[in-house]
Parts: sequence; structure tokens; C-alpha cells
Amino acid sequence: MHICYVVAMRAEARPFVEAYGLSKVDGFFVPLPCILYDGMAGDCRLSVVLNGEQHGTDLVGCEAASVATMAAIERLHPDMVVNSGTCGAFKAQGASIAEVFVGNGAMFHDRRVPGDDGFATQSLGNYAVWDGSRALAERLGLKMGKVTTGSSLDMQPCDLAVIQQHGGQLKDMEGAAVAFVCSLFHTPLLLVKSVTDLCDDGAATFEEFTKNLSAASQSLNEANQRIINRLSAL
Ligand code: SAH
Repeated sequence: MHICYVVAMRAEARPFVEAYGLSKVDGFFVPLPCILYDGMAGDCRLSVVLNGEQHGTDLVGCEAASVATMAAIERLHPDMVVNSGTCGAFKAQGASIAEVFVGNGAMFHDRRVPGDDGFATQSLGNYAVWDGSRALAERLGLKMGKVTTGSSLDMQPCDLAVIQQHGGQLKDMEGAAVAFVCSLFHTPLLLVKSVTDLCDDGAATFEEFTKNLSAASQSLNEANQRIINRLSAL
């Protein structure tokens, strides 16, 4: 079994890169910005692909996530991709800071394209996840939620309208892009998201995100270790 994590931010990946003693493989994706960490988790090969950096910051968002996912699948041929990261969630739906969710689907919430039903369907995305996601979440006692992805950290009223209309629960900037690429390659995808901010608690998203990034990354690390244990037994 070869599991490949696709992760946007170094802070999100660092705890489990260190926990598994993964080694950085310099230059693996040149000229792409993505960075490979590779190693073993028991009998299982474990790769972590970071989107990379630009202007001294982690590359977040759909474009970088698509490039990283495509490069990872083409170059590493993993049995499964896991997109692990942080997200916003909704207090009204019972979510709390640093709570970890498994995604039960992924869609875009900020692609407003007028046209016929085909374009509307394409814009929303609505990609499937690995069909073992529910059993895994139940086994590990993790809640499930629908990931909705957009290109901004803030949430405009028109984003919220789409999220509510489609039962979105977890708001991020990469999940649906990773899901799109996985769907093209028929590579199973698991989504694991830890909450840094609550989109409906009135706090400024950026401040809340920054304050909770470390705690959310720690709970993400704990969940990922339990997930890797289960997956490596498959
Ligand atoms: N300015 C931040 C950059 C992080 S962008 C910084 O200085 O560190 C936010 C990242 O966290 C993205 O990778 C995204 O997937 C995730 N994220 C967390 N909360 C989010 C939210 N409420 N909406 C969208 N993305 C969110």
C-alpha cells in the first residue's frame, strides 16, 4: 500500500512528517514547486507532497493543489491520495475548533458560471471520495462533512448561499481541486480536515485561523496517525 498525502501548508504537514521521520527528497518535482517527503509507516509507503512555496509563503489554493496532485499521481502512482489540511466550519452545525472531519464529498462554492446545466454541474464539481471513507470515519469516531472549496479565505454572502444550498460543512481552498484531479486518474481520495475557524461565530477569519493553526495541526496529526494505522492494515 502506498499512501500519498497532498498538503498545502508546512505547519499542517510538519507534525506527521516528523512523527514518521520522513525524508525530504530534494529536487524530485523540479521545475514544479511541490516538495516530496518520503518514508515508511510500518509496511506502508508514506509520501507527503507539499504544494510548495512562493514569495516565502506556502502555496495555498486550487491551482497549486491541482499541480501537486497531478504531479504526485503521475510520478508516484499511489494507491490512495489523502488531502489533509485545515478548514473553516460552522458553529451552527455543532463544529468546534481543532475538530477533525472526514470528507464525504467535495465541491466548489465560488464558481459562478452562467449557462446551461452542464456548465453549472461542472462548476460545482461535486466529486466523490473513496468509498471506504464512511467506514473509516465510523471506525475512528470522526464526524463526516461535505468539503466546499473556493479561492478565498473569507466568505462572501454568495459563497454562503451556495454552501447552504448544497449542504456544505467544511470550507477550504484545496479539497475540490485535489478531488477533481483524483477523479481524472480514478485514484481513491480521502479528505481529512481540521477546523481552524468558525465561519459563523463573528470572529475575523484570518485572526482566528492564525490563532488556531497550531492546535488544529496537532489534532490533524493525531487523526492522521490513526488513519494511517487503519489504512496500512487494508
Ligand atoms: N494567510 C494565511 C494563509 C492560509 S490560507 C497564513 O498566513 O497562514 C488558508 C489555508 O487554510 C488554506 O490552505 C485553506 O484550505 C485552509 N482554510 C482554513 N480555514 C479556511 C476558511 N475558513 N476558508 C477557506 N480556507 C480555509
